[in-house]
Amino acid sequence: MGHLTPSLRLAAALSTRGCRVTLITPHPNVSLAESNHLSAFLSSHPTIDHHPYHLPPSSHPTVDDPFFEQVHAIRCSLHLLRSILDRISLTALVTDIFFADSITGILSDLDHTPQLRPLHFFRQIPSSRISSHSTHGRRAAAVWESRARIPPCFAAGKRQSTAQVDGVLVNTFSGFEATALEALNNGRVVRNLPPILPSGMLPPVQMDIQGGGGGDEVVVGWLDAQPPGSVVLLSFGSRTAMSRDRIAEIAEALELSKQRFVWILKGSKVDREDKDDPFLDRIRAGGRSGLVMREWVDQAKILSHPAIGGFVSHCGWNSVTEAAARGVPVLAWPLNGDQKVNAEVVVEAGVGTWDRNWGWGGERLVGGGEIVRKLMELMGDAELKRRAASVGEETRRAVDDGGSFDRLLKLIENKSNNS
Ligand code: UDP
Ligand code: UDP
Repeated sequence: MGHLTPSLRLAAALSTRGCRVTLITPHPNVSLAESNHLSAFLSSHPTIDHHPYHLPPSSHPTVDDPFFEQVHAIRCSLHLLRSILDRISLTALVTDIFFADSITGILSDLDHTPQLRPLHFFRQIPSSRISSHSTHGRRAAAVWESRARIPPCFAAGKRQSTAQVDGVLVNTFSGFEATALEALNNGRVVRNLPPILPSGMLPPVQMDIQGGGGGDEVVVGWLDAQPPGSVVLLSFGSRTAMSRDRIAEIAEALELSKQRFVWILKGSKVDREDKDDPFLDRIRAGGRSGLVMREWVDQAKILSHPAIGGFVSHCGWNSVTEAAARGVPVLAWPLNGDQKVNAEVVVEAGVGTWDRNWGWGGERLVGGGEIVRKLMELMGDAELKRRAASVGEETRRAVDDGGSFDRLLKLIENKSNNS
């Protein structure tokens, strides 16, 4: 969902501006959330074409993460895309970074798109060139890499030099990562980069998700009855399973702190496997002060509710931008992947706090007492609230960040005229 959500937002934004958009997605999906969102998106955007891309049965069933297994299956069968791409009159192609290199190779082999050069949504900078730069540059590069998302184990295929790329659209906003964007665009990280365009806040897509259990109404109904800014939201993304001992510590912290809360809790990586945990009964029975949701609920919508006054987040990039855009203070609790880099951005932009001693997810068990202290700090820090609110305002003002979309559309238009 962390990859699908921004892609759907981008598709909707391009379509709204008059681009003809075709969506190519793998089939089958891994999680119920993915398939529900995709169907709802397609029914609410009838002008967007859809080509499902049928994956062969997995040849890699030993991986214990179904999402990484899916990435592997897609990578192994990207050659099948050629026949789909051949049928589309293609001007520009936006791809998830996981597949950028392989797709670049396929594009260069297509006969009918001689003018086409890739316009990458994200791009990796060779790390050898990053390490020799100043601290300032290194940080900027790290931020960049967090968006680059090409795991070293997948870095294969032929790379084009960045000089051959027309531009790089990055899913961020300048009010949020001004230093990094400025360093990248002024050649302080790597010389001769193509223009780096912040996408600005891509607005959430309005859609009617079928098959949900009515959780959104339950949460919003409950929040409506709470005082403004009084509730903390806890959520660790779409695919971070919480271990039972960590759930117990968080539950204890919520009980001890008497803090009003909404906790979106996943006990397994793939949503459809989620079952209830009997040891949450106590917190439920104590219940008037909070909700524990085990099903998919719309996090961006919950964050927009005036009763929410703080967000404990694993710092997936979508969660971070959703909180920043709404001016909700964040307690960063990065657990794996790129999340520590994102937590840095949270702190630097002034929208949140992060206790580095908490370590990675599997490193140590953070105790209930420690969590209580940070929770109280998050909900009680007036200066943090003020700073987060001002980032939110700035972001809402910069929906189309410095005209990025106009520049992107211009590039697409030029290609279209040339081909
Ligand atoms: N999300 C949601 N409801 C849930 C869990 C997640 O709406 O129950 C959304 C969340 O708002 C975000 C995305 O799923 O847009 C998760 O992406 P993120 O980058 O934050 O984390 P990831 O899931 O990739 O770890
Ligand atoms: N990763 C990995 N092996 C894989 C896929 C990913 O080691 O097969 C690592 C990689 O370093 C990547 C990180 O996991 O940067 C997190 O991936 P991503 O941010 O795409 O995960 P998500 O946001 O979907 O949770």
